[in-house]
Amino acid sequence: MSIVIEGCAVATMDAAATEYDPGHLVIDGDRIVAVGPGASAASGTEVRLVDGAGCLATPGLVNTHHHLYQWATRGLAQQCDLFGWLTELYPVWAGIDEEVVAAATGVGLAWLALSGCTTTTDHHYVFPRGSGDLLGASIAAAREIGLRFHPSRGSMDLGVSAGGLPPDELVEETDAALAATEEAIDRWHDPAPSAMVQIAVAPCSPFSVTPKLMAEAAALARRKGVRLHTHLAETAEESAYCAEKHRCTPVEYAERLGWLGADVWLAHGVHLGDPGVARLAATGTGVAHCPSSNARLGAGIAPVASLLQAGALVGLGVDGAASNEAGQLVAELRQAVLMARIAGGPAALTAREALALGTIGGAHCLGREAELGSLEPGKLADVALWRLDGLGNAGIADPVAALVFGPPPPLALLLVGGVPVVEHGALQTADEQALLRRAGIAYGRLGKGRR
Ligand code: ZN
Repeated sequence: MSIVIEGCAVATMDAAATEYDPGHLVIDGDRIVAVGPGASAASGTEVRLVDGAGCLATPGLVNTHHHLYQWATRGLAQQCDLFGWLTELYPVWAGIDEEVVAAATGVGLAWLALSGCTTTTDHHYVFPRGSGDLLGASIAAAREIGLRFHPSRGSMDLGVSAGGLPPDELVEETDAALAATEEAIDRWHDPAPSAMVQIAVAPCSPFSVTPKLMAEAAALARRKGVRLHTHLAETAEESAYCAEKHRCTPVEYAERLGWLGADVWLAHGVHLGDPGVARLAATGTGVAHCPSSNARLGAGIAPVASLLQAGALVGLGVDGAASNEAGQLVAELRQAVLMARIAGGPAALTAREALALGTIGGAHCLGREAELGSLEPGKLADVALWRLDGLGNAGIADPVAALVFGPPPPLALLLVGGVPVVEHGALQTADEQALLRRAGIAYGRLGKGRR
């Protein structure tokens, strides 16, 4: 079955920043086979023709940082900084199990799909003893909703009694965490170009992971040929922690442990300083920029303009729903522009640069830039078709500005590998009310800390 979308504006996000207005897209199976100006020449009975009038086609958005289980604990620790927020939430997260993770992941992924996301990561690092197969539960939810999924097997092995932040009962033994991570790669990772599931290795953060686990996790990932992800340089408190414990900056600490390189992307990168920006750029290390979460926790403003100017790879992330209750990836385009401009003035980040962060930039962070992140013949058919002719977006003088500066528009269509996941603003792969009912029951089991 072929799909032809025409009559819409098209922002391809290819290397030449090609745009058509109007333009067309032709999709055959799971691939894009043609993109160009005006109408398509395609015809035939096996073709589904989509009228894109009033719409903008972009690559599906790529979410480079999330903790989907946190959907079950939104709205808590509302005035806390990161360490206070974590300290309040760790005991609540100790109650998660397969059912809570499956339900939270289902709702979180559905909401991401409705905000134009076609590929998402999920950094899961909380594995309470006896909680079941949490990664398996999240992967099953991703298969149901139909998004391309890059779950990372997180880990924590530095409890409070050893100088870390998390309670001792929430951390794993170092060797057990490494063994479970290797098992997850063997069981789930698909290296194929059209993969729907790829695993990354992701110890949580400098204040919840030992240097031994960081170094051995890097070695494991490189032996297995998978990518590395962690939180780094998120807050001033983390910088102070690294200075006190390791006598260096977070970036120097990461480099010392083998954690800079083209196979690594780091969440946040707020407190980098000029030397840190230069090291990330020189080593090809990616950054998952999470502007709403950074604002919610008062963490600071990441130096995105400096990173881009230095040639670093930057993607966008919503971060976990407990520090970004809105959780809409398309809204992060606007938030990225606003944060960059508060820090660096009105030319610090353009609408098109923000869209690049959310598409091809994210694909680079995940090592999928050959298959994802732009609308080009041969790439996977992950496409967002945004309705810009409604009250919120109509009349904004430039379709890309309407998407980035305007309110989150509804989706006419969202394709993942050519398969419709959202049509006319409605999720096609699962029933929203059923997802909500399941989530309500699962959250009830968490009890503690929730109203
Ligand atoms: Zn995070």
